[in-house]
Amino acid sequence: MKHASILLILLFSIGSLFSQETVYKLSSPNGKIQLKVNLVADGKPVYSIDFNGAQVIGQSSLGIRLSDADFTIGLKIESVSAIKSVKDDYQLISGKRKHCTYHGNEQTIRFTNFRQEPIDMIFRVSDDGAAFRYFLPGKSLETRKIIEENTSFQLTPGSKIYMSPCPDVYMGWCNSQPSYEDYYFQGEDIGKPSPYSAGWVFPALFKKDNTWILLTETGLDGTYCGARLQQLSDNGNYKIRFPEEGERTSPLAPLFPESKTPWLTPWRIIVISDGLKTLMESTLETDLAIPAKEADYSFVKPGRASWSWIMKKDDSVIYEVQKSYIDWAAKMKWEYCLIDADWDVKIGYEKVKELVDYATGKGVGLLLWYNSAGSWNTVAYSPKDKLLFGRNREAEFKRISEMGIKGIKADFFGGDGQSMMKYYNDILQDAMKYKLMVNFHGATYPKGWQRTYPNLVTMEAVKGFEYITFTQEAADQEPNHTCMLPFTRNVFSPMDFTPVNLTEIPGLKRKTSSAFELALTVVFQSGIQHWAESPEGMALVPEYIREYMSSVPTHWDDTRFIDGFPGKYVVLARKSGNNWYIAGINGENSEKEISFTLPFIAANVNATFYTDGDTNRSFSKSELKTKKGEKINLKIKPAGGFVLMVSE
Ligand code: CA
Repeated sequence: MKHASILLILLFSIGSLFSQETVYKLSSPNGKIQLKVNLVADGKPVYSIDFNGAQVIGQSSLGIRLSDADFTIGLKIESVSAIKSVKDDYQLISGKRKHCTYHGNEQTIRFTNFRQEPIDMIFRVSDDGAAFRYFLPGKSLETRKIIEENTSFQLTPGSKIYMSPCPDVYMGWCNSQPSYEDYYFQGEDIGKPSPYSAGWVFPALFKKDNTWILLTETGLDGTYCGARLQQLSDNGNYKIRFPEEGERTSPLAPLFPESKTPWLTPWRIIVISDGLKTLMESTLETDLAIPAKEADYSFVKPGRASWSWIMKKDDSVIYEVQKSYIDWAAKMKWEYCLIDADWDVKIGYEKVKELVDYATGKGVGLLLWYNSAGSWNTVAYSPKDKLLFGRNREAEFKRISEMGIKGIKADFFGGDGQSMMKYYNDILQDAMKYKLMVNFHGATYPKGWQRTYPNLVTMEAVKGFEYITFTQEAADQEPNHTCMLPFTRNVFSPMDFTPVNLTEIPGLKRKTSSAFELALTVVFQSGIQHWAESPEGMALVPEYIREYMSSVPTHWDDTRFIDGFPGKYVVLARKSGNNWYIAGINGENSEKEISFTLPFIAANVNATFYTDGDTNRSFSKSELKTKKGEKINLKIKPAGGFVLMVSE
């Protein structure tokens, strides 16, 4: 007995000595990113990341704390796996790229706590970033609870933030926050406190010199809560924060993570980009998302939608107006028409069925709005109480699917608690059974679900165009705000901003030019685009703009970053079939000169160039001859934009 204790003590000392001095290094396939993991004093697990030989993430903490076990301190390294190469290859029905590939190196380190309980930390490094997650092995009979995730991200001194704060629970109209509807803090020093105690949302972007870091998460299967970054960060050390009380589907439903084991937690993703190109062309969030199950997804068809509510609000949700919006969608060759809130009361199921038949005859599919209907907000719009409970939900999905409805827009969710994450997963799974596409509004960030559930065509989680119809202050912010989103909210995940107003907003002054708005058809990615125009507005623009709006795609084979800077300007090139759409917007008050080549164009071609006309409410269209490899020089007007269409 005595000998055994001495031996144990001896082993423990050797173990801790060994682990404190051993740094495990995992490199990206190209060798430029190196993730280092080790234990520091008191057995605390930490990591850091080097990029091109310089540290870009300083010593940051790892580990989770359960109600009955602590995996943040007193750990030992029990075993370290061999490094394995992980490759993946998958298709997205809509997104920035149709055919995505992934190549990373993976290593798992098994730690044990002082009670010899194991936890695996799984690390991945690819050429565009690093990621890790936790795994509790072994089968437990009882549900276990995580009360704190100790993961942090130590940004380097001097880094600047490009982050959106997370409003506290119950804030906003009818207590409808948090729903990721806020502006971005841009270029301020790391460590600046969020104005809200709930912290900062993912994706969060940081800049130090020419290195950009983007933090996000994926793999939310309903056994974990959505996470944010804490409000306060000592010296730029941003720690994971869990949701606030109230962000759950009912007072007793899970808020913080709870599950039986084995239990795999979501990926923490750190995109690392030298300049913005790697970030802007990365698909790391979907690369690490849970792959879609094998199934028939042929009912998932990306497209464009007419939508009366954006310009005409609640009173427009009546039979005659919806019929006219179906006519308009058909005329514009758009695939869908969205009927918004209160349709069940103001139109009714029977008349909606008439509208479905009418729309079907014109080649237009109908989408229907729903209230997510919890006690977490006071929004009264109906239909309510159709989605929250599984049996009602299935019955409703069966009913509208049989009516011929193509998809739903479910609005006003209540935050990031685990039960709320499960609710999103449940809706998507049930909608899949009845071949319905899904669009979440008033919602969390998509977190890679668009790969796991291909029927998720888009999500809001953005201070979208509706705000620009509400206040002049929001209209004034549009040029800057829209230049932030391609680098953050929309960099990985579809975004239902509901863009493109080509005329005027009743009672307000739009600050963007009409060509700026036109460019958003390409700059913003969403599986279904709900345009912020009306039939009356569309009648006022030149015929060639209507033709453009009829033909512009919403799903892309590829995306290339041409130029840009968060909040200032962005130029993207997206490919659809043999056509490239190169679009740019200028978020600043001065004219912007840009110069670029199109290396993906193989021959000398004629491009069609749409940009601002003499005023910021007029257009011009011209032909532009481009030679292979030749520089294209363009000027973008203040708050102006352009689209250049080139066929390969
Ligand atoms: Ca909204």
